[in-house]
Amino acid sequence: MINVTKTFLPSQEEYQAILKTAWDSGWITNRGVLVLELEKKIKNYLGVAHLIATTNGTLPLQIAIKALKLKGEIITTPFSYVASTASIIWENCNPVFVDIHPEYLTIDETKIESAITPKTTAILATHVFGNPCHVEAIEALAKKHQLKVIYDGAHAFGVTYNGQSIFNYGNVSTCSFHSTKLFHTAEGGAMFCNDEAVFNKLFFAHNFGHDGPLDFFGLGINAKMSEMQAAMGLAMLPYMDTILNERKKVIDFYNTHLDFSKLQSIKIRENTRWNYSYYPLIFQSEEKLLQIEKVLNDYQIIPRRYFYPSLNTIKYVKGKKMPISESIASRILCLPLFVGLHQTDLEKIIAIINKELC
Ligand SMILES: *Cc1c(COP(=O)(O)O)cnc(C)c1O
Repeated sequence: MINVTKTFLPSQEEYQAILKTAWDSGWITNRGVLVLELEKKIKNYLGVAHLIATTNGTLPLQIAIKALKLKGEIITTPFSYVASTASIIWENCNPVFVDIHPEYLTIDETKIESAITPKTTAILATHVFGNPCHVEAIEALAKKHQLKVIYDGAHAFGVTYNGQSIFNYGNVSTCSFHSTKLFHTAEGGAMFCNDEAVFNKLFFAHNFGHDGPLDFFGLGINAKMSEMQAAMGLAMLPYMDTILNERKKVIDFYNTHLDFSKLQSIKIRENTRWNYSYYPLIFQSEEKLLQIEKVLNDYQIIPRRYFYPSLNTIKYVKGKKMPISESIASRILCLPLFVGLHQTDLEKIIAIINKELC
């Protein structure tokens, strides 16, 4: 079976050699040496000054909403994984959707201003598939209307925009290190913030608000990464160049051989160094997508409908119609993309799609 992704794993020996530090000290969580080392190495790798490693990529969104004291309405994208909308609702705020750009698939910055009301406190946008939002326009709007900005950068590990890490933008940025993501710690994530006061709030909040064993800085919750997770991250990092190169090769092959006369692929924003995190294809109709998905499934090839459904249509969400997002969500399919995807399988996938497109 060929899935949309296959988790990259270092050898067990490499993982266990790193984990030995934790075993020998008997210290397996609460910001142990491996978490501290991972934070340092990721800062170096990404070129960011501040980050906090967390136990997943969703708690950072919730903690950011709390730390920035957001209330009322948060403007967000309908085209993302459910975590971005769920975090807003979970924190007792209302998601207000703004439709997406038909090619970049990120929130359409030109439609944000008309969605702002006196109740709006923030914009929470996703760098979907690692494609940066129009961060300049969003920053200008936030300034003009005194809004906070949170970027869900779950897919954006290693992405640079205008020569610097995409995580340097917004009041807070987040990432996911889930095992389906480009870089992973089995479960895990991070939050990024360059404002010292906000960073302190995030930091204390991810560890119950503890300020030393007996004192509390403020309200907190538990989003700490464990040493087991950090060891996986440390074992993964040396492979990042290989991972990026191998994924680029797969993408180049798809790009060269698929018949794009009846297909649309994602447009990556200018001045971006992308991370090859997903390979989404947009078909001309949902019927075509379902037809091709079925044939692929018959050959044990399992692409995924990332992201379906459009989040404004979820049962517990009362969202307005979002024509572009709903249309794209119904027609988009992510093809298998991982290190170790065989050339013969790639050729098979491409042959099936090109044949069914005719
Ligand atoms: C994966 C993902 C998350 C959540 O990350 P977890 O680490 O699974 O909690 C949030 N937002 C988006 C867009 C994602 O794809």
